[in-house]
Amino acid sequence: MSVTTRFAPSPSGLLHAGHAYSALRAWDFATKHGGNFILRIEDIDFNRCNREYEDLLKRDLAWLGLEWQEPTRRQSDHIEDFQQAADQLAGGGLLYPCFCTRKEILAEIERAGGAPHGSEGPVYPGTCRSLSNDEGAARIAAGENYALRLDLSAALLRFSTAFEWQDLESGTITVSADDWAQIGDVVLVRKDIKTSYHIAVVIDDALQGISHIVRGKDLFESTHIHVLLQALLGLPQPVYLHHELITDRDGKRLAKRDESETLAALREKGVTVAQLREKLGLSL
Ligand code: GLU
Repeated sequence: MSVTTRFAPSPSGLLHAGHAYSALRAWDFATKHGGNFILRIEDIDFNRCNREYEDLLKRDLAWLGLEWQEPTRRQSDHIEDFQQAADQLAGGGLLYPCFCTRKEILAEIERAGGAPHGSEGPVYPGTCRSLSNDEGAARIAAGENYALRLDLSAALLRFSTAFEWQDLESGTITVSADDWAQIGDVVLVRKDIKTSYHIAVVIDDALQGISHIVRGKDLFESTHIHVLLQALLGLPQPVYLHHELITDRDGKRLAKRDESETLAALREKGVTVAQLREKLGLSL
């Protein structure tokens, strides 16, 4: 099997050691297998991303010794590809418009006495799932803003066996009913950006022929959604490798706001890539 990995950062801040770890794991995996490494810019969230960070992250990755082909795919240039995928799901009756605000969702959860809690927060209580098509269409026609959510139960009904995917660190993962209960009707087309991470990442991984997805454990649960979307859209399922997250001295996950831990700051302090690799436990 030929290997293609990718690193897919969002240019919404400076890269830190945690990003370096992820990028190097993907790069090392590709190199070890004589494969390709792709850099993709995940910048659909125009509220948070900008070109300046894109240039800076490329500088950081070049410093780490990574090489990639230019031009890189920038997701914001391909919103139509993602909208087409959403149209396909909507055409199959798997999406419904959701007009709820965050506040309304929390109020509804409180009224219901709670909701399962997934990696993305409390699960959507399904308020808008029961709106009739006419009601939804009328509210859209009246100019109300809306997201499109996946009707998870309807989607799962299309499949007779449980979803499985492969993780090189954790083995075969079977997505259980409990896992799905913690996911619920996720947003696939956001109110503001008219697409979503879940759709964009699945489309681009398929389009770019990514065979192995190397990324942090923080996205482990998202993979359940991704394999479902791959099946619904007729896309191949890659192999995954979710690695441990890099934490600071206090055991806290590194975040883009921790300025002192950025790669730029480390470089400035005179840290070499070899030293950084050693600190991250990544021998050459
Ligand atoms: N763009 C995502 C991030 O920066 C990574 C997505 C992925 O690796 O699937 O967190």
